[in-house]
Amino acid sequence: MIKMLSGDEAVARGAWEAGVVVASAYPGTPSTEILEDLVHYPNVYTEWAPNEKVAVDVAIGAAYAGKRGLAAMKHVGLNVAADSFMYASMTGMEAGLVIVTADDPAMHSSQNEQDNRTFAKFGRVPCLEPSDSQEAKDLTIAAFGLSERFDTPVLLRLTTRICHSTSAVELGERVEPASSEPKPFPRNPSKYVMVPGNAVKRHPVIEQRMRDVAAFAETFPYNHVEMDDTSLGIITCGVAYQYAKEVFPHASILHLGMTWPIPDQMIRKFAASVKRLIVIEELDPFLEEAIRLMGIEVEGKSIFPLMGELDPRVVREAAIQAGLLPANQHVALPEVEVGPLPARPPVLCPGCPHRGVFYVLNKLKVPVNGDIGCYTLGLIPPLSAIHSCGCMGASIAVAHGAAKAGSPEHHVAVIGDSTFFHTGIPALINTVYNQSPVITIIMDNRVTGMTGHQQNPGTGFTLQGKPTTVIELEPLVRSLGIRHVKTVPAYNVEEIESTLKEYIKQDEPAVLITLEPCVLLPEVRKRWVPLEVLSDQCNGCALCFRIGCPAILKSDELDARLQRPKALIDATLCTGCEVCAQLCPRDAITFRPVEMEEV
Ligand code: SF4
Ligand code: SF4
Ligand code: SF4
Repeated sequence: MIKMLSGDEAVARGAWEAGVVVASAYPGTPSTEILEDLVHYPNVYTEWAPNEKVAVDVAIGAAYAGKRGLAAMKHVGLNVAADSFMYASMTGMEAGLVIVTADDPAMHSSQNEQDNRTFAKFGRVPCLEPSDSQEAKDLTIAAFGLSERFDTPVLLRLTTRICHSTSAVELGERVEPASSEPKPFPRNPSKYVMVPGNAVKRHPVIEQRMRDVAAFAETFPYNHVEMDDTSLGIITCGVAYQYAKEVFPHASILHLGMTWPIPDQMIRKFAASVKRLIVIEELDPFLEEAIRLMGIEVEGKSIFPLMGELDPRVVREAAIQAGLLPANQHVALPEVEVGPLPARPPVLCPGCPHRGVFYVLNKLKVPVNGDIGCYTLGLIPPLSAIHSCGCMGASIAVAHGAAKAGSPEHHVAVIGDSTFFHTGIPALINTVYNQSPVITIIMDNRVTGMTGHQQNPGTGFTLQGKPTTVIELEPLVRSLGIRHVKTVPAYNVEEIESTLKEYIKQDEPAVLITLEPCVLLPEVRKRWVPLEVLSDQCNGCALCFRIGCPAILKSDELDARLQRPKALIDATLCTGCEVCAQLCPRDAITFRPVEMEEV
């Protein structure tokens, strides 16, 4: 049967058909849908892990126990999981282990553009790259086979365009593991216990393994040549293969489904058979450099961009510039009549539970070290309350470091509930252990918000939606040795402000948990009751505009004395969170008639 699948769905399907038994992931765009799809298949255990390292360790555990394991993450997740990735390369495993990295060229939703093929080379691990959804499925299956054949983890590298675009996929049946009985866990410390004495003996095994995989790459069916006009030869991989085919329909192409290790002989033969050799690949000159190191003359990044996503237009224009195509192949972009659309800058949703916290932080003028999540949007004016943001879990330790460096102000770290579970906990322990007066605000919105509302250890539900133990934040934080801990409703602006002012006077670590579910959760949406502005009482003082709620607009009516526009609430956007009402000095914003229900 043929079905249209996204690349992520195709990876899930391929893993299932390959008989995967355990799959673990931390959600991260563009990889999130792999586990969200795999959860619906039978005979496979799926879970959200608190971070990517845990996910990889879980998959390794399954593979040590003799069952196929998969871990999925976005590209930066592999940084978190790097330690586990590297030891898995050293030990190998008893059954197939596939680690999926979904790279994000052009940084659609990421803090960097790293090309994780380098991780494969660094870790002595084969890397496979699909060019469409069919290959995403096929290469997932091939990756498990490769993993078992060569006793190695396999890195499956997707990119955003592959993850989220849809193409036809031929479905197959699941091949169940040979035995459903659990195997005895291996008692083989010389292979699985990486103390130095054992690791020293494993290293030559790993190097030989990669030589063996490189020899296999010469016959790997997803490395294939399409010979045509020999005046131009293109070596390409991933989605760039599609662009190469579209822009150079008559060129000879060597398509690599395995981008590490590369098939030397195949490349040499192909290079010798064409007049001019180029590489088209997204991001780093990974293949280009490897080919040049073989002593082969090749062009790549001197023609095509090093940064951002490629697309047929970018490839075509670069090729015209380099003289690979005649100038008359320039395709003018069609003029699109967009009309007077309003600008849509990124902004916290109307009624977002984080808004009031950032309003207070801005008011207190404290330095705020931010983290990755919806709350990173506290950066945007008029809230303008985030001063650093690097990666998941960084906020607390950055604030601690600044405090220890003598930064004269009282540092605040903001972090979400899911991110706190991800990598925030060790950093908070550090503030206690090494004593810094960092104020940590855990913004608990009862969900992993930014990636689209996934469960996490604090929500009380698993990936399957089954009820589970809730990890309570306040007792957890107290158990780490933090003496000053308070949970405050996130919409209570006054209490947030008074608590922070109290904490600022103290000289020890403190934690404020601001609690309110994300306003977009279906059960919360049901309680939306929009507020309104009583225009008679509003004098256009503009205080309510300072919270940057998209539901608060400037009306056409001017206050007679101040000649300033009065406020107006868009009832179709307003959730009734009451933050603006708390700030209005003239009680011009009316409260809802009913108290907000308990969550
Ligand atoms: S999704 Fe939820 S948490 Fe994220 S900005 Fe919107 S309301 Fe806030
Ligand atoms: S804060 Fe109150 S008085 Fe001031 S503009 Fe807003 S609604 Fe009007
Ligand atoms: S109550 Fe005020 S702050 Fe909350 S969503 Fe409505 S307009 Fe925005």
